[in-house]
Amino acid sequence: MIQELYTIFQKYPNITTDSRKITPNCIFFALKGDNFNGNKYAKDALEKGAAYAIVDEKEYVTSEQTILVNDALESLQKLANYHRKQLNIPIISLTGSNGKTTTKELINAVLSKKFNTTATKGNLNNHIGVPLTLLSMNSDTEIGIVEMGANHKREIAFLSSIAEPDYGYITNFGKAHLEGFGGIEGVIIGKSELYDYLKASDKFIFVNGDDTKQVERTQDANTYVFGGSDTYDLSIEFLTANPMVSCAVDGKKIQSQLIGSYNFSNIAAAIAIGTYFKVNSDDIKEAIEAYIPSNNRSQILTKNTNKIILDAYNANPTSMKAALDNFSDLTDTSKIAFLGDMFELGDSAKEEHQFINDYAASLEIEKIYLIGENFGITNSTNEKIVIHSTFESLKENFPALENSTLLIKGSRGMALERILELL
Ligand code: ATP
Ligand code: MG
Repeated sequence: MIQELYTIFQKYPNITTDSRKITPNCIFFALKGDNFNGNKYAKDALEKGAAYAIVDEKEYVTSEQTILVNDALESLQKLANYHRKQLNIPIISLTGSNGKTTTKELINAVLSKKFNTTATKGNLNNHIGVPLTLLSMNSDTEIGIVEMGANHKREIAFLSSIAEPDYGYITNFGKAHLEGFGGIEGVIIGKSELYDYLKASDKFIFVNGDDTKQVERTQDANTYVFGGSDTYDLSIEFLTANPMVSCAVDGKKIQSQLIGSYNFSNIAAAIAIGTYFKVNSDDIKEAIEAYIPSNNRSQILTKNTNKIILDAYNANPTSMKAALDNFSDLTDTSKIAFLGDMFELGDSAKEEHQFINDYAASLEIEKIYLIGENFGITNSTNEKIVIHSTFESLKENFPALENSTLLIKGSRGMALERILELL
């Protein structure tokens, strides 16, 4: 069956799983979600110009262009793996709790100076996104870069079995998706499945030498270690993060447009991987310096007289603490933080929100607005802390701000970029 699909795929290499995004001669895979059944849209997809529709319910076979399989999702994944095997190219996979997309984009910027690369688009990093990423590679692709996300154990092992990476990198082990992983130990085991795969197949791992947890887990592997020591394979010196991160390699300064000291390791990984693949050092510098994040991820904006660090793309205890530390270190006067709820924390939600409440109060920040239901049940006696359990309440009581520096950070569902409209 997969061979048959592969023959069709070679003729019609554009794949979509979204019936609203049909392009002429694409193949439509009818996937199921909690609230939808893609099979229902197969006919529509064909009418809109799809070459084939892959369905997994008999009643939706309407023409010779509909192909019935047992499970459309599984077929997509198997096809992706089959295609990956035919592509005789190195694939670099990355996972971790924070910074995957940023690091992936930096690696892609660096490697594309020398190679024809194909990387995960946006954040398509799950059991559907990884296959789609692989299927977007073709005979022109020289290196593939695949972001892998997970919110429970065995997911990275599964994604690795589909992508069969030759190289891997884990950005960090942090407190994200604690609910699904069952705590930080679960996160470490779950993310390390990438290491397990690479070790078992005698492949290669890029390691941030300054992160002891990563070093511990890669002792017995083929590694390329980078970070702030001369004893590593590549030494990268951290210069400053005030507010943008800069670093130096061999005495040559690289000035990024990324805020937050937490971005140092993301940048360093891209420099290391570029160096390993022999991208010219001037090209590496140019690629890093030109990269600007998108998607409300660590952007600096100005509105009226205020400077805004907009990091409203997502948040979890680790990235929240990293962002607060960085904000606290800034020498700006009048620093105001707007922090939104962190989702998916399960039983630790109350404790983690209270921790951020207390921690923020202890830093060099003038005022801290905590927004959301989870922050709503935390408490503080510190007058710097203002709590609003809903966004509406913040909106109604929004402070007049001038010449301030603002940090805006919260989980995606909080959509804290809405604060920009209040300024
Ligand atoms: P997702 O789980 O949504 O795919 P991601 O791992 O791809 O997230 P990014 O989108 O690159 O992560 O970054 C999201 C946010 O995480 C950033 O805006 C920043 O606040 C924080 N972050 C980025 N890199 C790190 C890091 N190395 N350590 C801690 N926090 C980080
Ligand atoms: Mg991502």
